[in-house]
Amino acid sequence: ATPTALMVGTGRGAQLGILIRGPEVLESTRRVDTVVLDKTGTVTTGRMALTDVLPAAGTDRALLLRLAGALEDASEHPIARAVAAAAAEAENGAGLPAVSDFANVPGLGVQGTVEGRRVLVGQEKFLADRAVELPRDLADAKAAVEASGRTAVTVAWDGEARGVLAVADTVKATSAEAVRRLRALGLTPVLLTGDNHAVARAVAAEVGIDAADVHAGVRPEDKAAMITRLRAAGRTVAMVGDGVNDAAALATADLGLAMGTGTDAAIEAGDLTLVRGDLRAAADAIRLARRTLATIK
Ligand code: ADP
Ligand code: MG
Repeated sequence: ATPTALMVGTGRGAQLGILIRGPEVLESTRRVDTVVLDKTGTVTTGRMALTDVLPAAGTDRALLLRLAGALEDASEHPIARAVAAAAAEAENGAGLPAVSDFANVPGLGVQGTVEGRRVLVGQEKFLADRAVELPRDLADAKAAVEASGRTAVTVAWDGEARGVLAVADTVKATSAEAVRRLRALGLTPVLLTGDNHAVARAVAAEVGIDAADVHAGVRPEDKAAMITRLRAAGRTVAMVGDGVNDAAALATADLGLAMGTGTDAAIEAGDLTLVRGDLRAAADAIRLARRTLATIK
Protein backbone atom coordinates (compact mmCIF):
# COMPACT_ATOMS: atom_id res chain seq x y z
CA ALA A 1 0.00 0.00 0.00
CA THR A 2 2.90 2.35 0.66
CA PRO A 3 3.97 3.05 -2.94
CA THR A 4 0.33 3.52 -3.97
CA ALA A 5 -0.30 6.14 -1.30
CA LEU A 6 2.88 7.95 -2.32
CA MET A 7 1.79 7.93 -5.95
CA VAL A 8 -1.57 9.34 -4.90
CA GLY A 9 0.32 12.07 -3.01
CA THR A 10 2.39 13.01 -6.05
CA GLY A 11 -0.68 12.88 -8.29
CA ARG A 12 -2.61 15.20 -5.97
CA GLY A 13 0.45 17.46 -5.94
CA ALA A 14 0.28 17.82 -9.70
CA GLN A 15 -3.36 18.90 -9.40
CA LEU A 16 -2.30 21.58 -6.88
CA GLY A 17 0.41 22.87 -9.21
CA ILE A 18 3.23 21.17 -7.33
CA LEU A 19 5.72 18.97 -9.19
CA ILE A 20 7.44 16.52 -6.88
CA ARG A 21 10.80 15.11 -7.97
CA GLY A 22 9.99 11.73 -6.48
CA PRO A 23 7.84 10.14 -3.76
CA GLU A 24 10.82 10.03 -1.37
CA VAL A 25 10.70 13.85 -1.20
CA LEU A 26 7.44 13.68 0.77
CA GLU A 27 9.25 12.47 3.90
CA SER A 28 11.50 15.57 4.19
CA THR A 29 8.55 17.77 3.26
CA ARG A 30 6.60 16.39 6.22
CA ARG A 31 9.37 17.16 8.75
CA VAL A 32 9.97 20.81 7.78
CA ASP A 33 9.62 23.36 10.61
CA THR A 34 11.25 26.43 9.07
CA VAL A 35 10.60 27.95 5.65
CA VAL A 36 13.22 30.32 4.26
CA LEU A 37 11.85 32.59 1.55
CA ASP A 38 13.95 34.41 -1.02
CA LYS A 39 12.58 37.92 -1.51
CA THR A 40 12.94 38.99 -5.13
CA GLY A 41 10.87 36.85 -7.49
CA THR A 42 9.60 34.61 -4.68
CA VAL A 43 7.74 36.83 -2.19
CA THR A 44 7.69 39.72 -4.68
CA THR A 45 6.80 39.55 -8.35
CA GLY A 46 10.35 40.39 -9.37
CA ARG A 47 8.83 42.49 -12.12
CA MET A 48 10.58 45.66 -11.23
CA ALA A 49 9.98 49.11 -12.64
CA LEU A 50 12.37 52.04 -12.76
CA THR A 51 10.81 54.91 -10.77
CA ASP A 52 13.61 57.51 -10.55
CA VAL A 53 16.84 58.53 -12.26
CA LEU A 54 18.89 60.64 -9.86
CA PRO A 55 22.11 62.01 -11.40
CA ALA A 56 25.00 63.35 -9.30
CA ALA A 57 25.66 67.09 -9.57
CA GLY A 58 27.14 67.74 -13.03
CA THR A 59 26.03 64.41 -14.55
CA ASP A 60 23.63 64.35 -17.51
CA ARG A 61 20.47 62.43 -16.70
CA ALA A 62 20.02 60.96 -20.21
CA LEU A 63 23.65 59.81 -20.32
CA LEU A 64 23.29 58.18 -16.88
CA LEU A 65 20.26 56.18 -17.98
CA ARG A 66 21.76 55.25 -21.36
CA LEU A 67 25.08 53.91 -20.01
CA ALA A 68 23.43 52.04 -17.13
CA GLY A 69 20.74 50.67 -19.46
CA ALA A 70 23.24 49.46 -22.05
CA LEU A 71 25.13 47.51 -19.40
CA GLU A 72 22.00 46.07 -17.76
CA ASP A 73 20.72 44.97 -21.17
CA ALA A 74 23.28 42.14 -20.95
CA SER A 75 21.99 40.92 -17.55
CA GLU A 76 19.00 38.71 -16.72
CA HIS A 77 18.51 40.15 -13.22
CA PRO A 78 15.01 41.63 -12.60
CA ILE A 79 16.62 44.98 -11.68
CA ALA A 80 18.61 44.88 -14.89
CA ARG A 81 15.53 44.22 -17.00
CA ALA A 82 13.75 47.22 -15.46
CA VAL A 83 16.69 49.56 -16.05
CA ALA A 84 17.32 48.31 -19.61
CA ALA A 85 13.64 48.58 -20.56
CA ALA A 86 13.38 52.18 -19.32
CA ALA A 87 16.65 53.12 -21.02
CA ALA A 88 15.58 51.56 -24.34
CA GLU A 89 12.30 53.47 -24.16
CA ALA A 90 14.15 56.74 -23.53
CA GLU A 91 16.23 56.11 -26.68
CA ASN A 92 13.05 56.17 -28.79
CA GLY A 93 14.03 53.21 -30.93
CA ALA A 94 17.59 54.43 -31.50
CA GLY A 95 18.87 51.37 -29.61
CA LEU A 96 21.26 51.13 -26.69
CA PRO A 97 25.02 51.43 -27.24
CA ALA A 98 27.17 48.29 -27.45
CA VAL A 99 28.99 46.89 -24.42
CA SER A 100 32.39 45.22 -24.28
CA ASP A 101 34.28 43.51 -21.42
CA PHE A 102 30.96 42.74 -19.74
CA ALA A 103 31.02 40.95 -16.39
CA ASN A 104 28.18 40.02 -14.07
CA VAL A 105 28.99 39.67 -10.37
CA PRO A 106 25.98 37.80 -8.94
CA GLY A 107 24.32 39.51 -5.99
CA LEU A 108 26.39 42.65 -6.46
CA GLY A 109 26.18 44.18 -9.93
CA VAL A 110 27.52 44.40 -13.46
CA GLN A 111 30.48 46.09 -15.12
CA GLY A 112 31.62 46.75 -18.67
CA THR A 113 32.79 49.31 -21.20
CA VAL A 114 30.16 51.51 -22.88
CA GLU A 115 30.96 54.44 -25.20
CA GLY A 116 34.59 54.22 -24.05
CA ARG A 117 33.76 54.49 -20.36
CA ARG A 118 34.32 51.83 -17.67
CA VAL A 119 30.83 51.58 -16.15
CA LEU A 120 29.72 49.96 -12.88
CA VAL A 121 26.04 49.37 -11.96
CA GLY A 122 25.02 47.71 -8.73
CA GLN A 123 25.09 47.89 -4.96
CA GLU A 124 27.06 50.58 -3.11
CA LYS A 125 29.28 47.75 -1.83
CA PHE A 126 30.01 46.75 -5.45
CA LEU A 127 31.29 50.29 -6.14
CA ALA A 128 33.13 50.53 -2.81
CA ASP A 129 34.97 47.24 -3.56
CA ARG A 130 36.25 49.03 -6.68
CA ALA A 131 37.33 52.10 -4.70
CA VAL A 132 34.37 54.28 -5.71
CA GLU A 133 32.74 56.22 -2.86
CA LEU A 134 29.34 57.92 -3.04
CA PRO A 135 29.44 61.71 -2.65
CA ARG A 136 27.13 63.20 -0.04
CA ASP A 137 24.29 64.08 -2.47
CA LEU A 138 24.12 60.52 -3.83
CA ALA A 139 24.38 58.94 -0.38
CA ASP A 140 21.37 61.06 0.65
CA ALA A 141 19.45 60.15 -2.52
CA LYS A 142 20.15 56.45 -1.92
CA ALA A 143 19.00 56.64 1.72
CA ALA A 144 15.75 58.36 0.68
CA VAL A 145 15.03 55.69 -1.96
CA GLU A 146 15.63 52.86 0.52
CA ALA A 147 13.60 54.51 3.27
CA SER A 148 10.65 54.33 0.87
CA GLY A 149 11.09 50.53 0.53
CA ARG A 150 12.55 50.68 -2.97
CA THR A 151 15.89 49.35 -4.16
CA ALA A 152 18.63 51.87 -4.93
CA VAL A 153 21.08 50.98 -7.68
CA THR A 154 24.28 52.99 -7.85
CA VAL A 155 26.05 53.88 -11.10
CA ALA A 156 29.68 54.89 -11.63
CA TRP A 157 32.03 55.35 -14.53
CA ASP A 158 35.70 56.08 -14.87
CA GLY A 159 36.15 55.79 -11.13
CA GLU A 160 33.44 58.23 -10.05
CA ALA A 161 29.90 57.72 -8.74
CA ARG A 162 27.48 59.31 -11.24
CA GLY A 163 24.00 58.61 -10.02
CA VAL A 164 21.37 56.52 -8.28
CA LEU A 165 18.50 54.66 -9.95
CA ALA A 166 15.41 53.69 -7.97
CA VAL A 167 13.55 50.49 -8.80
CA ALA A 168 10.32 49.31 -7.23
CA ASP A 169 9.07 45.76 -6.97
CA THR A 170 5.65 44.67 -5.69
CA VAL A 171 4.76 41.99 -3.20
CA LYS A 172 2.70 39.23 -4.87
CA ALA A 173 -0.99 39.42 -3.98
CA THR A 174 -0.82 35.85 -2.60
CA SER A 175 2.31 36.20 -0.42
CA ALA A 176 0.70 37.46 2.82
CA GLU A 177 -1.87 34.67 2.72
CA ALA A 178 0.87 32.14 2.00
CA VAL A 179 2.80 33.29 5.08
CA ARG A 180 -0.37 33.00 7.20
CA ARG A 181 -0.91 29.44 5.92
CA LEU A 182 2.69 28.47 6.66
CA ARG A 183 2.31 29.80 10.21
CA ALA A 184 -0.98 27.93 10.60
CA LEU A 185 0.97 24.73 9.85
CA GLY A 186 3.31 25.61 12.73
CA LEU A 187 6.18 26.73 10.51
CA THR A 188 8.48 29.69 11.06
CA PRO A 189 8.86 31.92 7.96
CA VAL A 190 12.26 33.55 7.39
CA LEU A 191 13.12 36.16 4.72
CA LEU A 192 16.49 35.88 2.97
CA THR A 193 17.71 38.44 0.44
CA GLY A 194 20.72 40.04 -1.14
CA ASP A 195 18.84 43.33 -1.13
CA ASN A 196 19.29 45.94 1.59
CA HIS A 197 17.79 45.90 5.10
CA ALA A 198 15.31 48.75 4.60
CA VAL A 199 13.66 47.08 1.59
CA ALA A 200 13.74 43.65 3.26
CA ARG A 201 12.08 44.99 6.43
CA ALA A 202 9.36 46.74 4.42
CA VAL A 203 8.53 43.53 2.52
CA ALA A 204 8.63 41.42 5.70
CA ALA A 205 6.21 43.78 7.45
CA GLU A 206 3.86 43.64 4.47
CA VAL A 207 3.64 39.84 4.44
CA GLY A 208 3.83 39.17 8.19
CA ILE A 209 7.41 37.95 8.74
CA ASP A 210 8.99 38.96 12.08
CA ALA A 211 11.78 41.55 11.85
CA ALA A 212 14.01 39.14 13.82
CA ASP A 213 13.63 36.59 11.01
CA VAL A 214 14.85 38.91 8.24
CA HIS A 215 18.33 38.30 6.81
CA ALA A 216 19.27 41.03 4.32
CA GLY A 217 22.41 41.91 2.39
CA VAL A 218 23.22 38.20 2.04
CA ARG A 219 25.56 37.39 -0.86
CA PRO A 220 24.56 34.47 -3.12
CA GLU A 221 27.38 32.27 -1.75
CA ASP A 222 26.26 33.03 1.80
CA LYS A 223 22.63 32.04 1.24
CA ALA A 224 23.56 28.34 1.47
CA ALA A 225 25.68 29.02 4.58
CA MET A 226 22.63 30.63 6.19
CA ILE A 227 20.64 27.41 5.57
CA THR A 228 23.48 25.33 7.01
CA ARG A 229 23.45 27.48 10.18
CA LEU A 230 19.71 27.01 10.65
CA ARG A 231 20.09 23.24 10.20
CA ALA A 232 23.00 23.17 12.67
CA ALA A 233 20.65 24.87 15.16
CA GLY A 234 18.36 21.86 14.87
CA ARG A 235 15.83 23.18 12.38
CA THR A 236 14.48 21.21 9.43
CA VAL A 237 14.61 23.76 6.68
CA ALA A 238 12.71 24.31 3.47
CA MET A 239 14.05 26.97 1.12
CA VAL A 240 11.88 28.62 -1.52
CA GLY A 241 13.67 30.47 -4.32
CA ASP A 242 13.64 31.41 -7.98
CA GLY A 243 17.06 32.65 -8.98
CA VAL A 244 20.42 31.29 -10.10
CA ASN A 245 21.66 32.82 -6.85
CA ASP A 246 19.29 30.57 -4.86
CA ALA A 247 20.40 27.26 -6.41
CA ALA A 248 23.04 26.39 -3.80
CA ALA A 249 20.67 27.24 -0.94
CA LEU A 250 17.90 25.13 -2.53
CA ALA A 251 20.29 22.18 -2.76
CA THR A 252 21.54 22.68 0.84
CA ALA A 253 18.09 22.83 2.44
CA ASP A 254 16.33 19.69 3.69
CA LEU A 255 13.74 20.57 1.07
CA GLY A 256 14.21 22.90 -1.90
CA LEU A 257 11.12 24.47 -3.47
CA ALA A 258 11.67 26.26 -6.77
CA MET A 259 9.31 28.78 -8.30
CA GLY A 260 8.18 27.41 -11.67
CA THR A 261 8.36 31.00 -12.93
CA GLY A 262 12.05 31.14 -11.95
CA THR A 263 15.31 30.16 -13.60
CA ASP A 264 16.21 26.66 -14.81
CA ALA A 265 19.09 26.57 -12.32
CA ALA A 266 16.67 26.94 -9.41
CA ILE A 267 14.23 24.38 -10.81
CA GLU A 268 17.03 21.85 -11.31
CA ALA A 269 18.27 22.39 -7.74
CA GLY A 270 14.82 22.00 -6.17
CA ASP A 271 13.01 18.90 -4.89
CA LEU A 272 9.63 20.46 -5.60
CA THR A 273 8.53 22.99 -8.19
CA LEU A 274 5.68 25.40 -7.48
CA VAL A 275 4.49 25.50 -11.08
CA ARG A 276 2.46 28.71 -10.94
CA GLY A 277 4.98 30.66 -8.86
CA ASP A 278 2.32 31.03 -6.17
CA LEU A 279 3.82 30.81 -2.68
CA ARG A 280 0.56 29.38 -1.29
CA ALA A 281 1.47 26.13 -3.03
CA ALA A 282 4.42 25.80 -0.58
CA ALA A 283 1.91 25.45 2.27
CA ASP A 284 -0.20 23.08 0.16
CA ALA A 285 2.85 20.89 -0.47
CA ILE A 286 3.66 20.57 3.22
CA ARG A 287 0.04 19.87 4.15
CA LEU A 288 -0.20 17.26 1.38
CA ALA A 289 3.00 15.51 2.51
CA ARG A 290 1.80 15.32 6.11
CA ARG A 291 -1.56 13.89 5.03
CA THR A 292 -0.15 11.41 2.53
CA LEU A 293 2.34 10.01 5.02
CA ALA A 294 -0.26 9.94 7.81
CA THR A 295 -2.35 7.67 5.53
CA ILE A 296 0.58 5.26 5.19
CA LYS A 297 1.52 5.07 8.88
P1 ADP B 1 17.63 38.63 -4.02
O1 ADP B 1 18.37 37.86 -2.97
O2 ADP B 1 16.61 39.54 -3.36
O3 ADP B 1 16.98 37.73 -5.05
P2 ADP B 1 20.11 39.27 -5.50
O4 ADP B 1 20.99 38.42 -4.64
O5 ADP B 1 19.86 38.79 -6.88
O6 ADP B 1 18.70 39.61 -4.75
O7 ADP B 1 20.76 40.72 -5.63
C1 ADP B 1 21.11 41.43 -4.46
C2 ADP B 1 21.37 42.87 -4.77
O8 ADP B 1 22.51 43.00 -5.66
C3 ADP B 1 20.25 43.57 -5.50
O9 ADP B 1 19.25 44.02 -4.62
C4 ADP B 1 21.01 44.72 -6.17
O10 ADP B 1 21.23 45.74 -5.25
C5 ADP B 1 22.35 44.11 -6.53
N1 ADP B 1 22.38 43.61 -7.93
C6 ADP B 1 22.51 42.33 -8.34
N2 ADP B 1 22.54 42.24 -9.68
C7 ADP B 1 22.36 43.50 -10.15
C8 ADP B 1 22.28 44.09 -11.45
N3 ADP B 1 22.36 43.37 -12.58
N4 ADP B 1 22.09 45.42 -11.53
C9 ADP B 1 22.00 46.17 -10.42
N5 ADP B 1 22.06 45.68 -9.17
C10 ADP B 1 22.26 44.38 -9.03
MG1 MG C 1 15.24 35.87 -6.19
